[in-house]
Amino acid sequence: MSTTTADVVVVGGGPSGSTVSTILAQKGLSVELFERDHFPRFHIGESMIPNTYFAMQRTGLLEKMKGSHFVKKHSVQFVTQKGHLSEPFYFWDNKPHESSQTWQVRRSEFDKLALDHARSQGVKVSEGARVLEVIFEGTKAVGVRVKPEDGPEREVRAKVVIDASGQSTLIIDRFGLRAWDPQLKKAALWTYWKGAYRDTGRDEGATIVIQTEGKKGWFWYIPLHDDIVSVGVVADHDYLLKNRESKDPETIYFEEVAKAPGVQPRIKDATRCDIFRIQKEYSYRAAKGAGDGWCLVGDAFGFLDPLYSSGLLLALTSGSMAADAIIEGFAKNDFSESQLRKWEAPYLQGMDRIRRLVCEFYDGLSFGRFVKKHPHLKGLVTDVLIGDVFKDEVDVLWPLMDDLRKEQGIPAYEPVTIGAA
Ligand SMILES: Cc1cc2nc3c(=O)[nH]c(=O)nc-3n(C[C@H](O)[C@H](O)[C@H](O)COP(=O)(O)OP(=O)(O)OC[C@H]3O[C@@H](n4cnc5c(N)ncnc54)[C@H](O)[C@@H]3O)c2cc1C
Repeated sequence: MSTTTADVVVVGGGPSGSTVSTILAQKGLSVELFERDHFPRFHIGESMIPNTYFAMQRTGLLEKMKGSHFVKKHSVQFVTQKGHLSEPFYFWDNKPHESSQTWQVRRSEFDKLALDHARSQGVKVSEGARVLEVIFEGTKAVGVRVKPEDGPEREVRAKVVIDASGQSTLIIDRFGLRAWDPQLKKAALWTYWKGAYRDTGRDEGATIVIQTEGKKGWFWYIPLHDDIVSVGVVADHDYLLKNRESKDPETIYFEEVAKAPGVQPRIKDATRCDIFRIQKEYSYRAAKGAGDGWCLVGDAFGFLDPLYSSGLLLALTSGSMAADAIIEGFAKNDFSESQLRKWEAPYLQGMDRIRRLVCEFYDGLSFGRFVKKHPHLKGLVTDVLIGDVFKDEVDVLWPLMDDLRKEQGIPAYEPVTIGAA
């Protein structure tokens, strides 16, 4: 078997892999990235939030996004179980900055744009190349074994192996590091519609979050380009997929549409243009984000319920933060666990702040009441929604939300304790 070397090997060419590899290559490191599929390939996760801007600015992808055909997103809107539409939440009103305009992306195209950008920055990308295993010597990762579809297996040795394999979670599975989030055990069922209702002007690209009757679930309504709208329902896994008379996805989908007066009129004149797709989406995270010679980013590190469209933010930000620890590691010739975990605590703090707001929604906290009681804090709530979560200021919200939970008779918030290894 042939053996070659690189400074860094990255497993997976999704948004987290392309971000971390681009930054490392820009610093002059030799980076080899292996992606098992050929891009463009389908992926879910289409709605961006404003603070993805900063990682894309850092890698240079932002300029390509500005010149892209993706639908511009300026706001988010909520529809109650009875079908009442809230005022749009314009990001610009909270933060008059260029980052307040973000995008709705067809992921096959966005991921390809980002991976091609990585290539243009010096990353050696191989598509159709599956990483079979991460090679360890003792507890230290020293490289990977890869099977390109058009050639024999080979080994690539590296100082750092980055697992960006998404929900394939190569290293989590190898070491049994996964901790499920006991409170967020959801599933999603979705399809795509052509000719569905679209707002106009600044509202055309708004994500609409639509609750279903009884608040058992919610729909995302994400307008994409080419007159396509992504419409999917998220609910507890067992409610959505298990405890049902019919297990047929189409039947379940329309049973949920029937419970969503906010969805029905929007798709009534539209034509379905894709299959029904299902994904289990239990939230989880690894007990640790790095070890000697290895590091996890994006979904390979942890996955959080997609209610606030935070997945791309977390993928891009983890890629950017991990890159800093790795660059420092190369400067000091230190690839130890403690060096590669340096970014983990602040990253998880940010993720936990989003999780808190996700749980508040599912637990039934009234955001309207909260903002009425504390109008001066509306900006901080919006900060969490746009992904500006890597700062302590937002923590002022939580004791006040604790108070409102008490008033509403909601049991105390249960913080996540996993991942504290
Ligand atoms: C139902 C649902 C809805 C969502 N909605 C949103 C949303 O609206 N907005 C948002 O921001 N996020 C959303 N997300 C989350 C988002 O999809 C993910 O967080 C994001 O794709 C993570 O990026 P990543 O680069 O870490 O992983 P991925 O994008 O999954 O990329 C991983 C890559 O690794 C490759 N790979 C895996 N194993 C190997 C291997 N052994 N060898 C080589 N390559 C390998 C895969 O082919 C893949 O291309 C949603 C998720 C779900 C489940």
